[in-house]
Amino acid sequence: MSTKKFLLEEKDIPTAWYNIVVDMKNKPRPILNPGTKQPVKEEELYPLFAKALAHQELNETDAWIEIPEEVRDMYKIWRPTPLVRAYGLEKALDTPAHIYFKNESVSPVGSHKLNSAIAQVYFCKEEGVTNITTETGAGQWGAALSYAAKAFGLELAVYMVKVSYHQKPYRRSIMQTFGAQVIASPSMSTKAGRSILTAHPNYQGSLGTAISEAVELALQTPNCKYTLGSVLNHVMLHQTVIGLEAEKQMEMAGEYPDVVIGCFGGGSNFSGISFPFLRHKLVDGKEIRIVAAEPASCPKLTRGEFQYDFGDEAGYTPLIPMFTLGHNFSPAHIHAGGLRYHGAGSIVSQLRQDGYVEAVDVEQLDTFEAAVLFAQAEGIIPAPESSHAIAAAIHEARQAKEEGKQRTILFNLSGHGLIDMAAYDQYLAGDLSNYKLTDEEVSANLSGLEKII
Ligand SMILES: *Cc1c(COP(=O)(O)O)cnc(C)c1O
Repeated sequence: MSTKKFLLEEKDIPTAWYNIVVDMKNKPRPILNPGTKQPVKEEELYPLFAKALAHQELNETDAWIEIPEEVRDMYKIWRPTPLVRAYGLEKALDTPAHIYFKNESVSPVGSHKLNSAIAQVYFCKEEGVTNITTETGAGQWGAALSYAAKAFGLELAVYMVKVSYHQKPYRRSIMQTFGAQVIASPSMSTKAGRSILTAHPNYQGSLGTAISEAVELALQTPNCKYTLGSVLNHVMLHQTVIGLEAEKQMEMAGEYPDVVIGCFGGGSNFSGISFPFLRHKLVDGKEIRIVAAEPASCPKLTRGEFQYDFGDEAGYTPLIPMFTLGHNFSPAHIHAGGLRYHGAGSIVSQLRQDGYVEAVDVEQLDTFEAAVLFAQAEGIIPAPESSHAIAAAIHEARQAKEEGKQRTILFNLSGHGLIDMAAYDQYLAGDLSNYKLTDEEVSANLSGLEKII
């Protein structure tokens, strides 16, 4: 066996994030003020977000945005992350394909989410913010932000989707260990929470509802900002450290990927691994395929509509141009909680619309089958979210075998699943099922959208 792991040194941690918008011919459509339907101005974002983040959100002129020294210092705790050649998986599949994965599960909180959490907290701290709010689904973002908030001395309140609050109690414990306040959403502590609980007392929550609650609390609390772990342009930006490192590591391996794969919730780890490679296509016309893997039960990229929609359930956010299933869409309670989101970020949505991004949907049982195969071959228990990328990578490797051709596959292992063993228990006991949506279910929440596009 030749080299298994491709390792960079601390000095190789990127010094700038990559802003792909600058290199896109068709820029994403602007986010709109829902009242006036006019593009949102940077100042309009200030009540909600730190100014530096608001500026990054709308930045279409700087392709490279410097990573502050304090952020790079924190990145040193676990970055650069390894790029790994999955020899074990290749052997198990008996495929001629070369499979590589970027291992973001080695972060202290177990996922890629810390790349943006640290940056967001840093910029809040820089402008004197003392409190932040957020939402979390499976708890990965909440865990990352809790650690980042503690590291920079900010107070954090997290609205955690109720079904995950109960399904994944240890992620709640992690957040509490780092000193965050965790509230199950929907809750009675906000107007958005109360109104949905009044209508549906047993509602188990969604990311959309939790966002509404976190936004509401941030707007009502002095010196407080809201933070989001996915979907927004500045989050995609911060995550590009993943792909920028992987770009160098693939060079060390002496290969170039034919296909780059990421699982897809709102798009942050997918954008992180893929945008630096997509740059070669946008700027140099290089041939490369980029594939997003999403759950069949929450198929915004494969079956949703490209339309302006709210980022949250109650409609507090600006209107975002996105592939969406409708902001009132309530996904099935699959275990990949981080992928249970109704929409895709505006950059990825535009890239998908323009044909730069492919998407596949994967059934829950196929993701767990892939997860178990990967775990046995590589010794890492993947997060249920990441298992969507693994399933898509396995599919590519099997195709390569059928065609009898080499294919170089790179996927992002966005996190480990060591806090998700209850889900594995259920899978191993045969208690999990697929949730295939009917066309009626897909269109149910789309008909209500105002057709701005
Ligand atoms: C949150 C999360 C995701 C999904 O979010 P994206 O913004 O689409 O990346 C995927 N994998 C893991 C491990 C996560 O924690």
